[in-house]
Amino acid sequence: MTTKKKINTREEAAPTVGLVSLGCPKALVDSERILTQLRSEGYQLSPSYEDANVVIVNTCGFLDSAKQESLAAIGEALDSNGRVIVTGCMGAEPESITKVYPKVLAVTGPQQYEAVMSAVHKAAPPIHDPYVDLVPPQGIKLTPRHYAYLKISEGCNNRCSFCIIPSLRGDLVSRPIIQVLAEAERLVTAGVKEILVISQDTSAYGIDTKYQAYPWKNRTIRTKFIDLCRELGDLGIWVRLHYVYPYPHVDDVFELMNAGKILPYIDIPFQHASPAVLKNMRRPAHQEKTLERIHSWRKSCPDLTIRSTFIVGFPGETDADFEFLLEWMQEAQLDRVGCFKYEPVTGAKANEIQPAVVEEVKEERWHRFMQAQQKISAARLKSKVGKILPVIIDDMGEKGFLGRSSADAPEIDGNVHVTGKGLKQGDIVNVKITQSDEYDLFGKAVAG
Ligand code: SF4
Repeated sequence: MTTKKKINTREEAAPTVGLVSLGCPKALVDSERILTQLRSEGYQLSPSYEDANVVIVNTCGFLDSAKQESLAAIGEALDSNGRVIVTGCMGAEPESITKVYPKVLAVTGPQQYEAVMSAVHKAAPPIHDPYVDLVPPQGIKLTPRHYAYLKISEGCNNRCSFCIIPSLRGDLVSRPIIQVLAEAERLVTAGVKEILVISQDTSAYGIDTKYQAYPWKNRTIRTKFIDLCRELGDLGIWVRLHYVYPYPHVDDVFELMNAGKILPYIDIPFQHASPAVLKNMRRPAHQEKTLERIHSWRKSCPDLTIRSTFIVGFPGETDADFEFLLEWMQEAQLDRVGCFKYEPVTGAKANEIQPAVVEEVKEERWHRFMQAQQKISAARLKSKVGKILPVIIDDMGEKGFLGRSSADAPEIDGNVHVTGKGLKQGDIVNVKITQSDEYDLFGKAVAG
């Protein structure tokens, strides 16, 4: 007797997607890409609306008649199936669709393949087969399981004279907010307890898309800094913001920090304080009155940790500029600071600024800067002794556990050395702080 082996279980169980493609050859290519991605993820394709778990309508918005045709196709798909994702040219103006069909699951613009795939994943999650798939649902991560970086955009619209990133990666391209949030949700499901938001310029998020709006869980959200913070803040995990520039709209986030939604931590790369050097650096927001802003942030969010980086020995930096920076640092009392000696990266405009600062002077300024900041850091950490702080456990240390408080980003800031029993990586525990040094805290895990 022979036994028939059933080998097609995965195909049979895979969700099915229908697709209607309208418009020009560019739209057709977009549809082909979406289909390719769907198949590579194991989805089945359906020739009829009725058999599909979800239907994608790729619209055309070139002429009024084409728009009418697209709207009619969406209506037909909604009537026959009810679960519809709209993409393509009409998606560039989502209101033109949601006004007529508020029940569509998602609207994404042309060429937004990743956003379409995120919407499909939500509507009809792919079958993950650990024996066949090489990639887990949350993607491949190089960080430990309990924290992850969330990249919200590529490129940069600024033109800092020491930086060649814009010439390497181009202008700012923000990921659609629904795509970013879908990734964040996948990370949380996979066990991530802390998300670190990264980009080249986090506060500029969405400017390139004119803050494109999308339907999301019965509401409309914009591809915008504050909307992103609000939504991430509702995930119930730690959310840490990196590379934020002090544009005025950044002030809105402190309310979310006070409410415990976003960690009271902000990473702002100031790079210098002297107006002349900042002008030569062509820094974004360099005319903002940063000291006043820092004082007002601390007033509105007393637990705030401010992290920053600085460059010393920038071409044209005079003794007076450097002394100005040191005085500014005393006034600013930043919590966490990194400092680099200027390096002339090939292709950077700053290399043309005269005079260059000689290496010995750079070295001397760097040491003076670090010594001054070390004292500030030690004093700020000492003021935490006696407090009880929530700490996320990263690892085992020599004499106990290594963790971080809300004031410490992984890799770049300090640690909290914790004694206690039975703690695991990713646990968030209360720690009574008993001791401090220049960069680290020491304490004991306590109940509650
Ligand atoms: S903000 Fe300035 S330093 Fe940062 S990536 Fe853009 S150009 Fe480079």
